[in-house]
Amino acid sequence: MKVFRYKKELKNYIESLKNQGKSIGFVPTMGALHQGHLALVKNSLKDNDKTVVSIFVNPTQFDNPDDLKKYPRTFKTDMSLLKELSPEIIIFYPDAEDFYDGKIQSEHFDFDGLENEMEGKHRPGHFDGVGTVVKKLFEVVQPDKAYFGEKDFQQLQIIKKLVEKHHLPIKIIPIPIYREPDGLAMSSRNRRLTQHHRAAAPFIYQVLKQSAVLFEKENIDTIKKFVENTIDAHAYLKLEYFEIADEQTLKPATQKITGNKYRGFIVVYAGEIRLIDNIELISK
Ligand code: AMP
Repeated sequence: MKVFRYKKELKNYIESLKNQGKSIGFVPTMGALHQGHLALVKNSLKDNDKTVVSIFVNPTQFDNPDDLKKYPRTFKTDMSLLKELSPEIIIFYPDAEDFYDGKIQSEHFDFDGLENEMEGKHRPGHFDGVGTVVKKLFEVVQPDKAYFGEKDFQQLQIIKKLVEKHHLPIKIIPIPIYREPDGLAMSSRNRRLTQHHRAAAPFIYQVLKQSAVLFEKENIDTIKKFVENTIDAHAYLKLEYFEIADEQTLKPATQKITGNKYRGFIVVYAGEIRLIDNIELISK
């Protein structure tokens, strides 16, 4: 398996592949890989001649230093999981100093307001960090296609905007949320849940599914109150926000407009762990 730590070396290698006419698929991750990540990788392996997976706990996208410090890092296991899928996968495991040329800081981005909603409000600077790392990764990997999970739906829309605004020749492929059998959205952070909080966490998806049923008939305010009250009543879960927003603009919806697509977006703390999820809402 090829593992690159320095961007210049990977860039040279990618250029040699491109000269041979190979198509490149790219899956950016922060590691601690699970089946959700692997679903993205499998799609890339299917669609492209070569697949690059980056594993990088990017410091500039963390607004909480404790979260950065405690973020799980399992590089050896990640490598074996990827090797099992295909020994042909190219791993980029950047050295932060080299990747950022010694200046670990974010660039500022304008994503036409997408960056100011939900996660943008609750995690200041997060999307500048995401934009900075993904733009730099795209410059090194120069993929034809890049794969992003709908679990981080706002991030997915922001990456599409990044590509559009910078006229990058990259196709962004969204991948549906991969869940545990009990419905909890897979996340690297799940392994940090205590036993009680892990047992409580599938409730989040149950409530999201109930909100989707209510969306068929009820108004938005009623659904928001239902979710707020239901999560608040749970002993082990604390709601940070629940928002019903337009899929394209991510602006909070106050009423349903025919032809628009909506999603419910939720963030819940289970103890110290911040869990994020979302669901498609369809009006009958
Ligand atoms: P992360 O390592 O958390 O930054 O995630 C890397 C990529 O995997 C992002 O595009 C995520 O949206 C995606 N991803 C993470 N968890 C899941 C999941 N449960 N289902 C689908 N995609 C996911």
